Amino acid sequence: MKRRDFINHIGASALSLAVLHEAFAHDDDDDRVKNVPVTIPTNTGVSGRVIVVGGGMAGTTAAKYSRLWGGVDVDVTLVEPNAVYYSNIFSNMVLTGERTLNQITFNYNTLISKYGVKLETSAVTNIDPIGKNVHLGNGKTLAYDRLILAPGIDFDPLPLSGTADNQAKILHAWKAGAQTTALKAQIQSMTKKDTFIMTIPPKPYRCPPGPYERACVVADYLKRVKGGGKVIILDANPGIQAQPTNFTNAFNNTHKGIITYVPGATINSIDANTGTVNTAVGSFNGKVINAIPTHKAGSLITQSGIGLANAGGGRWAGVNVLSYESTSVPNVHIIGDASSTTQPKAGHIANAEAKVCVDAIIRLFRGDTLNQAPITNSSCFTPITKTTASWLSVVFRYDPATATMLPTGKGVVESSGASKDFHEDMLKWFDNLMSDTFA
Ligand SMILES: Cc1cc2nc3c(=O)[nH]c(=O)nc-3n(C[C@H](O)[C@H](O)[C@H](O)COP(=O)(O)OP(=O)(O)OC[C@H]3O[C@@H](n4cnc5c(N)ncnc54)[C@H](O)[C@@H]3O)c2cc1C
Repeated sequence: MKRRDFINHIGASALSLAVLHEAFAHDDDDDRVKNVPVTIPTNTGVSGRVIVVGGGMAGTTAAKYSRLWGGVDVDVTLVEPNAVYYSNIFSNMVLTGERTLNQITFNYNTLISKYGVKLETSAVTNIDPIGKNVHLGNGKTLAYDRLILAPGIDFDPLPLSGTADNQAKILHAWKAGAQTTALKAQIQSMTKKDTFIMTIPPKPYRCPPGPYERACVVADYLKRVKGGGKVIILDANPGIQAQPTNFTNAFNNTHKGIITYVPGATINSIDANTGTVNTAVGSFNGKVINAIPTHKAGSLITQSGIGLANAGGGRWAGVNVLSYESTSVPNVHIIGDASSTTQPKAGHIANAEAKVCVDAIIRLFRGDTLNQAPITNSSCFTPITKTTASWLSVVFRYDPATATMLPTGKGVVESSGASKDFHEDMLKWFDNLMSDTFA
């Protein structure tokens, strides 16, 4: 698919046109997106207390838009334990030195100064849905009218054996931050005779193309910087989960001789002493083992004790996608990776879900009916080499018959290969998505 076709494809909805405008707003090389002055409206007639838990892609967007759309009388508090947010998006490029961790670090200053969001740098430890309040690790109790939970994901333990020191070397780097830096050091220590093994958990996991993207950029780095090396992808799934044409091409052509893709490789055990990964389809040895564990919703959901984790065998939060309100606990909304929907677990869609959720909460405050036809959009750019990227795009529309979000038109569309142009588009897409979330 060419860029013009991409524009036609995602131009299928008003919301996606807005997203598209933002995605390419830097075409003229101006900085308007980041510097737009904002006045929080005083005349919405809406009031209420919103607490947002989790300052990642979903939660930060929800806090910002609650004020932007709700107005001055919507009291918004964001609760997040970390002072800064390390973006998972583009963290694969930190592994190979194309970006620094600093370049993917965001803070909450603008949220406070520009939008009047209150920030609590703490974690929510308990939710009381009857009293409609949350307890924080810093001892405070905050009351809400509507609670938005966006705690992201947690992991199942890996089946590891070996010394504690060696087990500690098996990293996922699937939550950006300290592990990203540590995995980067492990990759840098490789020689052209070494093998990098990455394991992909069964779906659903965050960022369907993310692991294949990581394999590509690591393979590219090994070839360019080390003069060779091997990357083995052990995928617990039966096949490539996103952009199958582009990644098959990348594995068989662009990174031929370096990447080996092994589907159906459910992990049985990992011996951290010998660097051996035992799977359903054989055993594999590597110098660096990047094992991504099976995902579940953040522990705030799975350990809430109030029935929020009512989907996917108790691993995810079931929601009504007209409002993202929990299907079991009233006045509590769950957005982003922690929720169970037909949409991918991705930052772009987390941003879109946050806006649908906030729109619904403002309507509920106002006593209006919910929008019965929400539309969301996800685009995901993936670097294939240092200078080229590919992408996928999909627009979802609410389907009343199934009460789910279903892909519109041609469904998930992938780009016609990887190119330098797409790489340039990717940089703009990232800047604008992060501006829309944090600035
Ligand atoms: C390598 C990689 C590449 C990716 N690339 C892309 C991409 O190109 N495009 C894309 O769209 N997506 C991408 N993603 C996926 C994207 O990063 C996630 O889907 C997105 O971050 C989900 O947003 P979230 O808000 O649900 O969770 P997060 O962004 O993880 O935020 C969760 C926040 O909740 C906080 N929290 C947790 N528990 C509590 C608590 N009890 N109290 C208070 N706060 C709490 C955490 O500290 C965290 O800040 C990628 C992911 C990875 C790992």
